[in-house]
Amino acid sequence: MSELRLMAVHAHPDDESSKGAATTARYADEGVRVMVVTLTGGERGDILNPAMDLPEVHGRMTEIRRDEMAKAAEILGVEHHWLGFVDSGLPEGDPPPPLPDGCFALVPLEEPTESLVRVIRKFRPHVMTTYDENGGYPHPDHIRCHEVSIAAYEAAGDHMLFPDAGEPWNVLKLYYNHGFLRKRMQLIQDEFAKHGEVGPFEKWLKHWEADHDIFEKRVTTRVECAKYFAQRDDALRAHATQIDPNGDFFRAPIEWQQRLWPTEEFELARSRVPVSLPETDLFAGIEIDE
Ligand SMILES: [Zn+2]
Repeated sequence: MSELRLMAVHAHPDDESSKGAATTARYADEGVRVMVVTLTGGERGDILNPAMDLPEVHGRMTEIRRDEMAKAAEILGVEHHWLGFVDSGLPEGDPPPPLPDGCFALVPLEEPTESLVRVIRKFRPHVMTTYDENGGYPHPDHIRCHEVSIAAYEAAGDHMLFPDAGEPWNVLKLYYNHGFLRKRMQLIQDEFAKHGEVGPFEKWLKHWEADHDIFEKRVTTRVECAKYFAQRDDALRAHATQIDPNGDFFRAPIEWQQRLWPTEEFELARSRVPVSLPETDLFAGIEIDE
């Protein structure tokens, strides 16, 4: 039987559970082999869950984030690979402090590209997902994740490049995740209002620039995955140090989300097969006979 394979490339542990997670859970459930590749260890992630802000947690972040990631991958039903680079952290301040020595965003692009090419040539995905050129959000590791993914997508099938990193393999389609959509947020905010409550997204919506409408301008592909929203939330909560279970994003009941916005959104960024847009399946246009 032919086997389809999907590789989701992410910057930090927890990103796989907040960006396209229900889609990966769906494909895994439907028999697609799904591998999440996490580029950094997430060592510099802030502890965002007050209940986990404990001295014994601070000293063991690397180890704890490995355990959290393993749990999330199990919940999503995906395979997982660490690429092994060190989290750059999100520089805060004006001006921002320099990035720490040796961190992922400072390593020359060829290094992580070769590492990712090696994983691609071994796993041989038909489809890859990553972030757009803005990183989805302006963390230096997210922007680097975009750059590395594009470079590896281009290089993996080229036998002249990284000849020691395995047999060339052409990934057929490359997508950007677009989970952060104004229209979706507004619908959910309105639903809170209908129920006589003030929704959690007021400040987000107020500061959103009108010309930054990714849904209208960039989304090419909507994947129905409402059935997997609970699994997505469970995976996200597995990242217990990073996620406040009482935070804004858990406030809308899953039933509302399933009714109002049952899909996850992607932008087709590269393709080596003929496509017809818009689409509802990341594998649309791909025929395999291996
Ligand atoms: Zn991240």
